[in-house]
Amino acid sequence: MNDSSTGGAFDDPTELATFVTTDIAGITRGRSFAAADIEDYLRKGVGWVPANLALTPFDLIADPNPWGSAGDLRLMADAASRARVTCLPDVTPLHFYHCDITDLKGEPWDCCVRSFLKATLAEFERDAGLKVVGAVEQEFQILGADWPAAPAFGLRAQRRAEPFGPLLMTALKQAGVEPEMFLPEYGKDQFEITCRPAAALAAADRGATIRAVTREVAALFGWNASFAPKTDPDGVGNGVHLHVSFTDLDGAPATFDASRPGRLSRVAGAFAAGVIRHLPALVAFTAPSVLSYMRLVPHHWSAAYTCLGEKNREATLRICPTPDLPGSDPARQFNMEYRAADACASPHLALAVVLRAGLEGIRAGLEQPPLINSDPSALSADDQARLGIRRLPSSLGQALDTLAADTVVTGWLSKDFLDCYFAMKRKEIEIVEGLSPAELCERYATVY
Ligand code: GLU
Ligand code: MG
Repeated sequence: MNDSSTGGAFDDPTELATFVTTDIAGITRGRSFAAADIEDYLRKGVGWVPANLALTPFDLIADPNPWGSAGDLRLMADAASRARVTCLPDVTPLHFYHCDITDLKGEPWDCCVRSFLKATLAEFERDAGLKVVGAVEQEFQILGADWPAAPAFGLRAQRRAEPFGPLLMTALKQAGVEPEMFLPEYGKDQFEITCRPAAALAAADRGATIRAVTREVAALFGWNASFAPKTDPDGVGNGVHLHVSFTDLDGAPATFDASRPGRLSRVAGAFAAGVIRHLPALVAFTAPSVLSYMRLVPHHWSAAYTCLGEKNREATLRICPTPDLPGSDPARQFNMEYRAADACASPHLALAVVLRAGLEGIRAGLEQPPLINSDPSALSADDQARLGIRRLPSSLGQALDTLAADTVVTGWLSKDFLDCYFAMKRKEIEIVEGLSPAELCERYATVY
């Protein structure tokens, strides 16, 4: 919760508040009302339409879908997810709430990805005795700024953008996402935003909030902040890295064990094994666009193989280093990073499927996979096979086929959801079919 100075009362008659859902295309959509009426809307929600879930990123609705013109739903807001940004010049406050999608009685809709994440977290507590802590790191590129070139990671690269960085950090703080760092990245006009770890539901909400706020701040400067997985076929990718760690139900750290390989606790090792086992199917949700597969290639510091690594940026699941300074407690900072995600994905769905896969590993008591601390693409085919390293799907079509064949993963989701997801994604493939890599980048940059 943030911006407590305003309490619940928003007296400015011009201010709107919006109830939003971030859907399976990773797009945040919603409906607005006078912010002064917030208490009423928190009670009753706003209306929503089932077939909206079948919207492709390019606004055409996949047809057929399970609902057609039938049915009605509610967006029911989580008051604790409020983002309210008042520091932006010349615009009214940006004020929104993340929502669950429910039926008219307020019961979770079986296609609501935020409710799916909540149910996943409840299963984690029940079956593994663990609470999940998460954080999202997101990269993006500024398009349309016409800046002079500046060195990667350079102070100059950051100062060219003034006062974008400070305004963005202030806005993100007001939005309640606890931003940590704003940094110039390696790619052309690329930046990254990191935020503090939080309970996993809030972490997923933050993923969507950060994107919305960043785009709005960039637009004030006349730029497009693009989180698309690639904006140039020859450039670097924009990743969404999902950081995950666990505590027991009393809040004690449960991911770290200094005596084990990679310092992963037994339960975290089993979690990693479950993720690695199902990874080729998971990418259909976490790297879910046609463009995503231009990023998931070797030598991009993204992720191209099923591979657990320690401090290895070619590993899809990476054990992050902890500062080893006097007074620091590695157990509290220790976490794993899932790197095969991008901003075309719903952050709630992406986090949920990664957690579900890990939970399968915990339930089955799987052994921790071998640690791969070098570039997996440089290993011989024999070594890859011996170490259980598989190439991830190299196109969205392949990822969807792999998903369809993994009945453990499809078993987590309702029939309507799967029918909608496959229909929507196949429609997306059809829409962009035949575009050159450069055209593909351009097309996705208009949306992401
Ligand atoms: N840009 C890389 C990606 O697409 C990540 C680079 C990094 O490790 O920060 O995921
Ligand atoms: Mg980065």
